Amino acid sequence: METQLEDLRQQLDKQCLINQELQRQNKDLEQRLQEKEKLLQELQGQYHELDGPSQRPSNEPEFRKSRAAVISSEPIHETLDIAGTGVKKTVSETSLIVKAIQKNDFLSRLDDEQIAMMVDLLVAFDYSPKDEVIKEGVEGDSMYIVADGELSVTQAGRNLRTLNSGDVFGELAILYNCKRTATVKAMTNVRLWCMERQTYRTIITNKSKKKREQLMGFLKTSRTLKDLNDAQLSKIIDSMDEVKYQDKDVIVREGSEGNTFYIILKGEVLVTKNVNGHQKQIRRMGKGDHFGEQALIREVLRTATCTADGPVTCFSIDKEVFEETIPIEHLELFDDSKVLQETKAPEKSGPSSTLKFKDLLPVLYQEGRHQGDPVTLGVGGFGRVELMTTLVHGKYYAMKRVSKKHIVAKRQEEHMLFEKKILKSIQCDFIVRLHAAFKDTRYIYMVMEFCVGGEIWTKLKEVGRFDEPVAMFCTACVVEAYAYLHKKNIMYRDLKPENLMLDVRGYVKLVDFGFAKEMVRGEKTYSFVGTPEYMAPEIIKNQGHDFAVDFWSLGVLIFELLAGSPPFSSSEPQKIYAKILDGVFKYPPYLSEAAKSIISKLCRPRPGQRLGNTKNGIKDIRHHRWFSSMNWHKLRMCQLDAPTVRLIRKGPCYINFDRFPYDLAKAEEEFSGWDRNF
Ligand code: ATP
Ligand code: MG
Repeated sequence: METQLEDLRQQLDKQCLINQELQRQNKDLEQRLQEKEKLLQELQGQYHELDGPSQRPSNEPEFRKSRAAVISSEPIHETLDIAGTGVKKTVSETSLIVKAIQKNDFLSRLDDEQIAMMVDLLVAFDYSPKDEVIKEGVEGDSMYIVADGELSVTQAGRNLRTLNSGDVFGELAILYNCKRTATVKAMTNVRLWCMERQTYRTIITNKSKKKREQLMGFLKTSRTLKDLNDAQLSKIIDSMDEVKYQDKDVIVREGSEGNTFYIILKGEVLVTKNVNGHQKQIRRMGKGDHFGEQALIREVLRTATCTADGPVTCFSIDKEVFEETIPIEHLELFDDSKVLQETKAPEKSGPSSTLKFKDLLPVLYQEGRHQGDPVTLGVGGFGRVELMTTLVHGKYYAMKRVSKKHIVAKRQEEHMLFEKKILKSIQCDFIVRLHAAFKDTRYIYMVMEFCVGGEIWTKLKEVGRFDEPVAMFCTACVVEAYAYLHKKNIMYRDLKPENLMLDVRGYVKLVDFGFAKEMVRGEKTYSFVGTPEYMAPEIIKNQGHDFAVDFWSLGVLIFELLAGSPPFSSSEPQKIYAKILDGVFKYPPYLSEAAKSIISKLCRPRPGQRLGNTKNGIKDIRHHRWFSSMNWHKLRMCQLDAPTVRLIRKGPCYINFDRFPYDLAKAEEEFSGWDRNF
């Protein structure tokens, strides 16, 4: 009995031990399962981040899921000393750099000249093992090409890949001050070719400016063009294309029909004439000389043959394009200014002129998760917009509040001052009104008309994509806003569904003038601003830009409204830029011919050839057949029934807006005084 008992006890103990062991193994397995699941999630995340198009039917574009981020580079140092910044390189060094640039998605699409300059400007730096070259989350100011050695790329502690000689990294930093998305560390002794944004942008900008000035000088020596003013000549330059010829290439042939005008940028051209069956040389032309100007104004046959003597680069314009560009005397950007100005007299009295900061009270959410909190209408890259009301009139206002410290940190002082200045001076039914502006030690405030219908962005996300009448109506409102702004020599530069709001009648209004700029016609600006998906190629190339960028973005907008996502999109900005520079996109099959036509005319790579920027200006957009059913006059008079009304929901005044948690944090105080005139 005793021994039996002892036996049983021993068996029990054994079983207990086995149980314990099994439990431990179980826990182990569970933990491993959890780890696996986490890994799976991460992999899925990465998979989604990869570019989508190949995994979906090629003609069904993916809807853009997130709001587009805005970008605004700091101002360029006009005075930065750039003399002697170039660094001599050996043949093999140059070859490594050029190859690296050529295999990079974004860099390879820059102009030959910009690439040559980049090669010249890169500076070598040496690193030891474990040195950190760039750090995740920190704003970058340089790009790098690996000359020698090995580096590791990690993201949130996870190894992504290894970089070797000829690899490029951090290239977005040459465009603007973006945050690094990964950490790069030297694993061996490393030598890098490095270039800072400030150097690159200053040099490219100055070079582009010089090139324009030079072209202007060349054009002024043409007899046909000499009477045109600078703005007109600048427009011609915008329409011209660079063409390259090899040695002995015939550029124009005697006796053939002429329809192109050329300026020689580089190389030499021989001019010959047929005399008794022999080619007789008449003269030799070089840089700055031009030929074929007769072809621009009348039907002519070429009177001589021009042949490249060695490699030649010309800048050329076809008669057809020239006719679209000139005469600019007839260019009328805004033909109905009087009518429009008379539609709404400026509000001289009423609540707005006497609006006081202390009278404004926040409107609170009446139900839901944020019940009792102040209503936030929107959160942008720079500010928060809150819904306010007054006790006396009970009117609603949208108040944009921006931290002064943040403005200074992002060097956006000028943009902010200009946003207020512009909005204050605007009286247009297609642009949000500014009723008052205030400031204190922490914030600046802009009190605007409240657009109760919400953002076009939100509506677009709700329905996926708009049908053509809705998209056409929205676009027509933007065209009217553009006509008003361009007439006042203001370019907008931040068109996107996030910046279009619906008023109570479903009319569309432009908000957010953070990137607007006043420009003298014929001049160019060189800042890098906008939203990647909507940026025109000339901004990305730093060639100098003007009003034409607004027409490009109008084409992108029509596409996004009709398709649900913009034509050039990717989760990685450099891929977006590469696509824009390529200029290739696919139309979804359900787009009408007219829609495709207007988009392709607005999204022409050469600014001078874009619809809206040709000789009849905005009129040409209004007359495009996509708008054939639009009554422009009635639209301006606000007498049309907006098809957008059905997108507006009925309910509490904030029902058409996403909900945002209230921001309890107070911004730091800021006393530098930049806002003196705000
Ligand atoms: P961004 O990131 O575009 O630069 P921002 O900080 O300059 O943004 P806005 O675009 O002016 O700010 O405003 C942010 C959001 O606030 C808008 O997208 C919109 O949802 C909302 N909003 C702005 N103005 C108004 C208005 N007048 N009425 C109603 N909502 C508005
Ligand atoms: Mg905005």
